Amino acid sequence: MSSAPLRVAILGATGSIGTQALDVIRSLRRAGHPVAVVALAAGRRVDALAALAREFAVGRVGVAGPTEADRLRDILPVEVVTGREGLCHLASLPDVDLVLNAVVGAVGLAPTLAALAAGKVLALANKESLVIGGDLVVRACRREGQIVPVDSEHAALFQILSALDPGEVERVWITASGGAFRGRDPATLAAVTPAEALAHPVWAMGPRITIDSATLVNKAFEVIEAHHLFALPWDRIGVLIHPQARVHALVELRDGTVLAQLSPPDMRIPIQAALTHPARLSPAPARLSLPGLALTFEPLPVDPYPAFWSVLEAGRRGGTAPAVANAADEVLVEAFLSEKIPYPAIATGIAEVLSAHESVPVHDIDSIYAADNWGREMARAIVARRASSV
Ligand code: MG
Repeated sequence: MSSAPLRVAILGATGSIGTQALDVIRSLRRAGHPVAVVALAAGRRVDALAALAREFAVGRVGVAGPTEADRLRDILPVEVVTGREGLCHLASLPDVDLVLNAVVGAVGLAPTLAALAAGKVLALANKESLVIGGDLVVRACRREGQIVPVDSEHAALFQILSALDPGEVERVWITASGGAFRGRDPATLAAVTPAEALAHPVWAMGPRITIDSATLVNKAFEVIEAHHLFALPWDRIGVLIHPQARVHALVELRDGTVLAQLSPPDMRIPIQAALTHPARLSPAPARLSLPGLALTFEPLPVDPYPAFWSVLEAGRRGGTAPAVANAADEVLVEAFLSEKIPYPAIATGIAEVLSAHESVPVHDIDSIYAADNWGREMARAIVARRASSV
């Protein structure tokens, strides 16, 4: 990094990625690398947001709605914006160089498009942007490399593929730890509790993505993300079960060489790589201990992960189908976490909603949000039907 500070806006500042990004920024600053936090946004955790805004001397913040805005103004004299429009405003501020979009959910698509249109570097952690709006996002890019992925598998692919000519690549692999229920008899999954599903063997993450890791819906999303981000055909993106979660992605080349990216399962590493790209700065947030490190890779088993295949198929179908899959998953995961539906109903619910959906091509963000609403309504109806039949 040069001596001029990097000016960042962090959307989703109080979530798992947001708080780790702020940790990375604290550590970079201690090491003498100037990073200015210009804007922060969070949904409803007003007190936590106010504390961060105070610590980083941030003058502009975004919150979910007017109630949160009033509460925040009572605590701190800052400029407050609200909702999706507020996120878009912060993502396109003239004095921001880099936008970290770590918002959870479909609402993250709009600020992604706003940041790209405004020419910002977009450190992208919001999966939904590419999952539900892949075509729009790719079209909105104003230059090569404008999106720097934060998701660990895509950060790995980005780092490897940046050094290669596309013609040299045979196929890419992203890895999956296999989630909380790897190796478990699918017949026993009807009885699992939210607490069991939330106990991810390797990564500490937010609740929705942890459940999505158990069902492997997260991995299907990641295949869809990779397809759009790296313009890769579906049949050249593979998934490997890799329980140690030290290798995040591999690239097989035409000549038989395989390049892999390894790092500890610590999101601060891809976050720091995205913030400082293309530079590599110390201190490292964590280091891999190589002696004695054993790595295994297995093919993805078909049976235990039905939701993976439904969501992947929705991605291949394209149009509004992935938005519907994402919306249904969001509602069904929430219903599972609040113990309204059993674990296997996440997968059966997604399949049911998708089979009722007629995908149409996506022309603008409104058609995506309309499909998102439709998917949510359908999934809520499934949850309600289950609740009334118990
Ligand atoms: Mg990932």
